[in-house]
Amino acid sequence: MDILSKKVLDKTVAEWINAFPLIKDIMNENEVLWTNPALLPFDDALKTLTLTKEDIDDASRRLDRFRSYFKRVFPETAEADGLIESPLYEALEMRHGLTEKYGVTLPSQLLIKLDSHLPISGSIKARGGIYEVLTLAERIAIAEGGLKETDDYAILADEKYKRLFSKYSVAVGSTGNLGLSIGIMSAKLGFRVTVHMSADAREWKKDMLRSKGVTVVEYENDYSVAVENGRREAEGDPFCHFIDDENSTTLFLGYSVAAERLRRQLDNAGIIINEENPLYVYLPCGVGGGPGGVAFGLKMQFGDNVHCFYAEPTHSPCMILGMLTGEHNKISVGDFGIDNRTIADGLAVGRASGFVGKETLHLMDGCYTVKDERLSALLKLLADKEDIYLEPSALAGAFGPVILARSADIPQGVHLVWATGGSMVPKDEMKKYYMAGEAVYGKY
Ligand SMILES: *Cc1c(COP(=O)(O)O)cnc(C)c1O
Repeated sequence: MDILSKKVLDKTVAEWINAFPLIKDIMNENEVLWTNPALLPFDDALKTLTLTKEDIDDASRRLDRFRSYFKRVFPETAEADGLIESPLYEALEMRHGLTEKYGVTLPSQLLIKLDSHLPISGSIKARGGIYEVLTLAERIAIAEGGLKETDDYAILADEKYKRLFSKYSVAVGSTGNLGLSIGIMSAKLGFRVTVHMSADAREWKKDMLRSKGVTVVEYENDYSVAVENGRREAEGDPFCHFIDDENSTTLFLGYSVAAERLRRQLDNAGIIINEENPLYVYLPCGVGGGPGGVAFGLKMQFGDNVHCFYAEPTHSPCMILGMLTGEHNKISVGDFGIDNRTIADGLAVGRASGFVGKETLHLMDGCYTVKDERLSALLKLLADKEDIYLEPSALAGAFGPVILARSADIPQGVHLVWATGGSMVPKDEMKKYYMAGEAVYGKY
């Protein structure tokens, strides 16, 4: 059957294209920029939200309570006093590199938020994923282990609590990095943990998890099947907690804490964000929880002075399709004949989170898509210019300033690329990524 006459919900694909002409470009896997007509002034957007600033503060306090625990079990967090946080980096050479390569004029300041170098699991998932496991552990320890919020949480590494946690199991479906975060954190606390991995998950991630005592179940299919199986396994088992990447407000809030920390880093660097000097943030997007949570936190911090964009691969544009049509998780990229095959494994998601799409609908300035070859080329450029090595997914943000500059006069202000993963990629894998970048560099 011709794809155009295929029915998606109440319309044929042809009718969808008629209603939203950009869908045609998206189906052709062109790079697109979509500016969000539903963006509201922050004061109005605030009234539409289901989560609050107090929810973020609650998450922030919980992470603070765990600082002494982290210092005890993950010594690499000691320097930051038990905080799992990443550097903010000013990319002077990359700014020149982008300007030269793409022939655009970029604003004066280009920053990179190096979540690629977060301790423990080396990706943005070390925020939300770890936070959700901590929330679970705290709840169990208070209910059954006599823990009090005022205790020194370093005691959670004691045998007593490990034994308590070992009665419980954690399950999650993942394309890789979420499994890594949840797996490492759960195993460390003493939970039994099963990670359901989709076909696009990298072998080394599975190996690393197994080496830490995590049960890895592999699937031939994509991410949604892995998630479904994880969910089913957990159902009906009161001792099993399923971490639901698509609908978890806990994950979302774990990510959102990044914003207050970023503000502190900006303050320390003497960078003031205001109407004259707004902040533009480019966030690689898979199912949406990570970038959505961060954007939510950023809007709470900076209101109308921050502009957030989701960045997706042209092969997996689930969030842009969901937000643009207003159908969110009711539609998938497959409905429009898009294959969801991308080297950006962290972003290989065919159906966005409905919760995140709706919660951030009035907060986001827009979405854009990036070709895989472009991710590779940007990987090489960043490595050459700054000696920073990221995984392909994490480069989706790096094209944001260029896309914006091409579509209009790029606004002045601070442009921040959220680099979401990569420091744990084995050297030989990274070499392959770099070589893929070399191969396409001239054209992309
Ligand atoms: C998971 C992931 C993202 C996106 O996060 P979502 O919550 O799936 O939208 C971006 N980059 C990397 C490297 C990731 O692992």
